[in-house]
Amino acid sequence: MFKKGTKLYSIFNSKCPHCQEGDFFKGSRFKGTVAEKCNVCDKKFSKEPGFYQGSYYVTYALGVAIFVTVWVASSVLFPDMSIPVLATIIVSAIVLMTPFSYYLSKIIWANFFFHYKPHTKNESTSAR
Ligand SMILES: [Zn+2]
Repeated sequence: MFKKGTKLYSIFNSKCPHCQEGDFFKGSRFKGTVAEKCNVCDKKFSKEPGFYQGSYYVTYALGVAIFVTVWVASSVLFPDMSIPVLATIIVSAIVLMTPFSYYLSKIIWANFFFHYKPHTKNESTSAR
C-alpha cells in the first residue's frame, strides 16, 4: 500500500523506522511493547529513559482526530441525531480505537525521531 522508505510504510507495517525491515514491536503490536532494538539493523528504539512518554501527545492527537471524524460523519449522515446519542457514539468510537491509537502513537512518535536508511548486510557486522 505504501512504498518502502516512507514513514507511512513503517507506521502501518509496524517496521523499524530506520531500516524498515525489522519488527518494531515485541510480540503482538496490540500489546504495544516496543522491542529494545531492531532485529535487523540493531538500531536502539529508545533514545533515552521514558522516551515513549512523549507518544501520549500523539495519542491525544489521534483521539481528537477520531472525535472530529466521528462527529462530522454522524452529523452528515444523521443530521437529526440528539447530543446524548452523538456523545455515546463518539465515546464508544474512541474506546474501541484505543488499542490502535496506543500502538500507532508509539510508532508515529518513533518515526518523528528516526529516519529511513536502507540496511546493507555489512553495516551491522562492521558496527560491532
Ligand atoms: Zn532496523
